[in-house]
Amino acid sequence: VIEIAGLNKWFGDFHALKDIDLTVRKGERIVICGPSGSGKSTLIRCVNHLERHEEGDIIVNGVTLRGDKGSVNAVRGEVGMVFQQFNLFPHLTVLENCALAPMFARKMPRREAEALAMTRLERVRIPEQARKYPLQLSGGQQQRVAIARALCLRPSIMLFDEPTSALDPEMIKEVLDVMVELAEEGMTMLCVTHEMGFARQVADRVVFMDQGEIVEQAAPEIFFSNPRYDRTRAFLSQIL
Ligand code: ATP
Ligand code: MG
Repeated sequence: VIEIAGLNKWFGDFHALKDIDLTVRKGERIVICGPSGSGKSTLIRCVNHLERHEEGDIIVNGVTLRGDKGSVNAVRGEVGMVFQQFNLFPHLTVLENCALAPMFARKMPRREAEALAMTRLERVRIPEQARKYPLQLSGGQQQRVAIARALCLRPSIMLFDEPTSALDPEMIKEVLDVMVELAEEGMTMLCVTHEMGFARQVADRVVFMDQGEIVEQAAPEIFFSNPRYDRTRAFLSQIL
């Protein structure tokens, strides 16, 4: 469902992504890891065109991203994204935060959007928080709201960019649990994370990036026990 071929991206004269090839099949769970500055965020932001790429093809569900409104909207309609920072609107309730997306992107009437939002809040197990404001919630709860909000657009692909790295340790698990459930339901997922327990548990493939390149990719049992490159070993020895 995602096909990336020959992708190159520059920030000015800094070469941020170098000849990236990556194919993700329906239902696959991919974990992307690598050192800070290696291009992980840039790569997944290119997939829903939060970043424009200069060279190469990105095809999502058969739509080639060209930077025109039509292809960008078609792709964003399929792809949900969750960031490290939750990016919730502080002046709107949890329910309103979630209902907003289908109301604006899908022109869904408010009542229907709020009913849909409730089902998604149930799915991330915080329906009782619906009438609160984001800042009245814990970090883990806010991140689950952000996941529920993304799910309100019924995405077929979910992108996660370090969804647990802004959280206190005791809240990481409640967010990972929701992500594991999504994986078990068959969601196609592309996750930047350094939670290697999560990678072992749900990833079909682990992709290791360094300096804008994909250095290696392998099934987790191979990636962790028998990495091929020194760069991967050096990285793993730092985080494991
Ligand atoms: P981290 O683990 O710290 O989140 P990352 O792997 O996600 O790192 P990116 O955020 O993708 O790294 O950044 C890759 C490189 O591109 C970095 O060197 C960064 O400084 C640079 N970069 C990212 N965004 C921009 C931008 N808008 N303008 C200029 N350079 C940028
Ligand atoms: Mg990043």
